[in-house]
Amino acid sequence: MPTRMPGRNGLFVPGPTNVPDRVQRAMLVAMEDHRSSKFPELSMSVLRDLKKVFKTETGQAFIFPSSGTGAWEAAFSNTLSPGDKVLASRFGQFSHLWIDMAQRLGYDVEVVDVEWGEGVPLERYEQILRADKRHEIKAVLACHNETATGVTSDIAGVRKALDEAHHPALLYVDAVSSLASIDFRMDEWQIDLAVSGSQKGLMLPAGLGILGVSQKALQAMPNAKSRRCYFDLADMIKANASGYFPYTPALPMLYGLRESLNMIFEEGLDTIFARQHYLAQGVRAAVMEGWRLKLCARSPKWYSDTVSAVLLPEGINGAHVIDVAFRRYNLALGAGLARLAGKVFRIGHLGDLNEIMLMGAIAGAEMAMLDVGVGLTPGSAVAAASNYWRTHDPIAKKKVSQEQQFYAAHSTGSIHG
Ligand code: PLP
Repeated sequence: MPTRMPGRNGLFVPGPTNVPDRVQRAMLVAMEDHRSSKFPELSMSVLRDLKKVFKTETGQAFIFPSSGTGAWEAAFSNTLSPGDKVLASRFGQFSHLWIDMAQRLGYDVEVVDVEWGEGVPLERYEQILRADKRHEIKAVLACHNETATGVTSDIAGVRKALDEAHHPALLYVDAVSSLASIDFRMDEWQIDLAVSGSQKGLMLPAGLGILGVSQKALQAMPNAKSRRCYFDLADMIKANASGYFPYTPALPMLYGLRESLNMIFEEGLDTIFARQHYLAQGVRAAVMEGWRLKLCARSPKWYSDTVSAVLLPEGINGAHVIDVAFRRYNLALGAGLARLAGKVFRIGHLGDLNEIMLMGAIAGAEMAMLDVGVGLTPGSAVAAASNYWRTHDPIAKKKVSQEQQFYAAHSTGSIHG
């Protein structure tokens, strides 16, 4: 069997995502002095514009040369003290790792275990917060998009649970695989710590930990006794005020971020969210109507617009499907993690991609599944996805008529090539 083919490797893991050519070119820069008088033009512009992506006017954005995990640690260590009570829910490998970090940093975590395939349990959160009359819980954690299971949680609902319980805890949201892809409103939902990374919706390589911090969280810093050094926001605030960093920044990544932010604002955040939903709907049609397989996400209210975890039939090893897709068809699919190992494969449908690229991923996943003995009708998933995408508008979230399709095809010249 051929293992190498010309052409691009199909990257459909839910991060790192494809880096647009424009962003790649922007990162091809000679190294320069990060203490020059010119450098703040770049750093201040990206720090200012990241706030727009978080949708915060009152909060502050931070960039660390790390990955999302570093931003998790920065969020905790700057705002909490050892022994502080933290409320968290676990429903996938990333919400699990976040809890694990909180425990290892010495916080007292009340863990609500939820079926993998569901998300943050709002009613349970509200009950626990109401019962905490002495306000011992200092932090409430919510993983906005659980990348391991393809589940999106209702962050506005978490805010409501806090408000209904009149609870003052800080709200920490993991937005690693949702920022710049799924609706996210830091100020409106009064998120105090919004954690993200560069390699998903921001369409960059991994290497930046991105953090949004509210004024309330900044005010909690002086009383937070957790040990911190590299991730100390106080050092960052001091240096960032004049456009510098307390250590050597990841320069090409900052140029790349400048370009990816330009692309995001050219398209518009709301247009991106609508496009993500439209692409995800096509993938879900492929999985459920085409292959007649199930998603790990248990009901539509949990469906993620950035990643779909596809449950495989009993007796099929997901690792085998992923390996055949990779070796035989140059297609990278996401693996099942922890208790989902072998049971699912994941299709990342976020970042710089479109219907035709996803058609390749769907067709490739189908070939790999057929090769390892999954009983599918060849072509069924492509047919279902094509039917969805041909009849829906990517922006308006509505069905389009035959005439509109015809007109759209003619006006772009696509019928005549
Ligand atoms: N949180 C979520 C939801 C993730 O998907 C990931 C990584 O995929 C992380 C946290 C960890 O981020 P990183 O791998 O950038 O450290």
